[in-house]
Amino acid sequence: MDLLNTLVDKGLRRETPTRGEALAVLATSDDDLLDVVAAAGRVRRHWFGRRVKLNYLVNLKSGLCPEDCSYCSQRLGSKADILKYTWLKPDEASKAAAAGLAGGAKRVCLVASGRGPTDRDVDRVSDTIKAIKEQNEGVEVCACLGLLSDGQAERLRAAGADAYNHNLNTSESTYGDITTTHTYADRVDTVQKAHAAGLSACSGLIAGMGESDEDLVDVVFSLRELDPDSVPVNFLIPFEGTPLAKEWHLTPQRCLRILAMVRFVCPDVEVRIAGGREVHLRTMQPLALHLANSIFLGDYLTSEGQAGRADLEMIADAGFEVEGTDQVTLPEHRAGGGCGSHGGGGVCGSAPAGEDSCAGADEEGARRADEPRPDLVAVRRRGAGTDLAPNA
Ligand code: SF4
Repeated sequence: MDLLNTLVDKGLRRETPTRGEALAVLATSDDDLLDVVAAAGRVRRHWFGRRVKLNYLVNLKSGLCPEDCSYCSQRLGSKADILKYTWLKPDEASKAAAAGLAGGAKRVCLVASGRGPTDRDVDRVSDTIKAIKEQNEGVEVCACLGLLSDGQAERLRAAGADAYNHNLNTSESTYGDITTTHTYADRVDTVQKAHAAGLSACSGLIAGMGESDEDLVDVVFSLRELDPDSVPVNFLIPFEGTPLAKEWHLTPQRCLRILAMVRFVCPDVEVRIAGGREVHLRTMQPLALHLANSIFLGDYLTSEGQAGRADLEMIADAGFEVEGTDQVTLPEHRAGGGCGSHGGGGVCGSAPAGEDSCAGADEEGARRADEPRPDLVAVRRRGAGTDLAPNA
């Protein structure tokens, strides 16, 4: 297909595709899907080989957020039955992080619900970063604490943070439909503050909220302009108890096309499959490794992922390798910035499911790819904030 040859050539040269080309990827048919994956896979392997970076989420503070992001189980007024707890102590967070690192993760993503940190919160997180770094040599730490005020990014950098995550989530024109308590411009400003402080910027999106193809292309082009080192791609987990609980729009094929489009537009950036991997890609997860070079290991912020061991087996079976702490994630021309990070279940919020998924799988026979799968959404009940061992 001429379109795919053009996109591969551009991806290898780090040239931006046209909006029309990006839209055409999203419009390809299921018959062309493997060709699309193969083409975007060439770009992925050119810049990242067969390495898969593993990231591990630690939810430092869960639920009870005053913001109203519609996709988020921790939002104001959420009826989702998630874990709710206040700040983990540095040693508790460090213990949770150590489990993920022992499981193969090289980056720890420290996430807290809320509009943004107070200066006292930045102190707390700084202590946590120091504890994790002291106890785990070579670990990368990303913070995701919401909107930053002046000077806070610099303080996190000074405490040892490598990266900061803040997602754009959706296009500027539809942002007001999903959140009213802050603006798209607020989010852009925080990503820019992180960049300016020398933190590796991480910013991504959530697909499946009812947006159009144009919205998806808009947000990915905006991300390309912001130039983060890493782009987490979340697939909406329609949590019961949130306004988007009935928004089941994604199929595994659609998710693969979205990841391919992101790879073509951001060819040399760490593209991470974030929340919703198990819920929406399901048995097609291994194909997605040909597009993304990074995933989260184990559980998400408020939902459970598949077993960490299953993540590792999937990577090996698909012919990929877990990226080691001695390997640099980003291509040489980007490496000065840092590494490329978080997202997690996206922003603060969103995240998938998993392990119980085979329970009750199929009394009625084969399912269609576009059927809603609330049975795959499992609220997190282990790890940080509980007495149970984490999934890693
Ligand atoms: S995404 Fe973050 S800011 Fe928005 S409601 Fe969830 S925890 Fe709060």
